[in-house]
Amino acid sequence: MLNIDLHCHSNISDGVLPPAELVARAAANGVQVLALTDHDDVSGLESAQAAAAAAGMTLVNGVEISVTWGGQTVHIVGLRIDPAFPVLAEGLHGIRLGRIERAQRMGDDLARAGIAGAYEGAYDYAVNKQMVGRTHFARWLVAQGHVPDTRTAFKRFLTSGHPGYVEHEWTTLENAVGWIRASGGMAVVAHPGRYAFNARQLHLFLDAFRALGGEGIEVITGSHHPSEYEKFAELARAFGLKASRGADFHAPGEGIDIGCLPPLPYYCQPVWQGWPELASHSSLS
Ligand code: AMP
Ligand code: MN
Ligand code: MN
Ligand code: MN
Repeated sequence: MLNIDLHCHSNISDGVLPPAELVARAAANGVQVLALTDHDDVSGLESAQAAAAAAGMTLVNGVEISVTWGGQTVHIVGLRIDPAFPVLAEGLHGIRLGRIERAQRMGDDLARAGIAGAYEGAYDYAVNKQMVGRTHFARWLVAQGHVPDTRTAFKRFLTSGHPGYVEHEWTTLENAVGWIRASGGMAVVAHPGRYAFNARQLHLFLDAFRALGGEGIEVITGSHHPSEYEKFAELARAFGLKASRGADFHAPGEGIDIGCLPPLPYYCQPVWQGWPELASHSSLS
């Protein structure tokens, strides 16, 4: 079976490994085809491509775009994008400018709750200074001894109703899918099981996504409990969406490791079906 992993993060966003080390880890885990999908940034792709070429691995250019739809944050993965395409590059740049302003408001909110210096602390944790996110705040909160681990950081802080959480307007679903498609890529709904949609909202969202030209949905992801795989495989089939597989790896010891997921259910149509860059890999399942 082809070992393909189409969702992971380097330290260009909120992962901890530099792109080349991420690729080396994937190769060591037996991954043959990897997509690097940093949040709202594509600047890790060049060094990831070089490392993949050296390791004899296929690297798919990817990104994970932050979107606001129906008052909620959703993530749209773009696969086989052209990172140099101006409309995509400019759109992502706009999102990153919004992130800086949001991070300052998060810091202010934590300060009001008695935790000073969080913005500066999170900023120090971010390798890419345009990409300060909640994970950097979480890591700083752990290092400062406010919480024992990042999971607890997201439970007590940084999430709705807790200090450090601020409302933020990301880009629109239309923009995200449009930029991905205009650059030659395929849009995929990331970790659908993570959203607080009820069934009706989820169906409306998938209808809107498809109407805009979205083509795929993650079925096997580190964000889904194994008991959810079947549900999202059925949903993919019902909505005529292709199925994707990706660990959403961020850091060693956190969640499922890169390339270590079960295969897609047999009846799914994989997002990678027909990709020419996969022809060199012996078995396509
Ligand atoms: P941001 O885009 O800055 O809002 O950060 C979102 C990122 O935070 C996600 O991609 C995850 O990496 C991380 N995250 C969100 N919720 C949790 C959680 N409950 N536990 C651990 N990490 C989380
Ligand atoms: Mn993340
Ligand atoms: Mn995500
Ligand atoms: Mn992700």
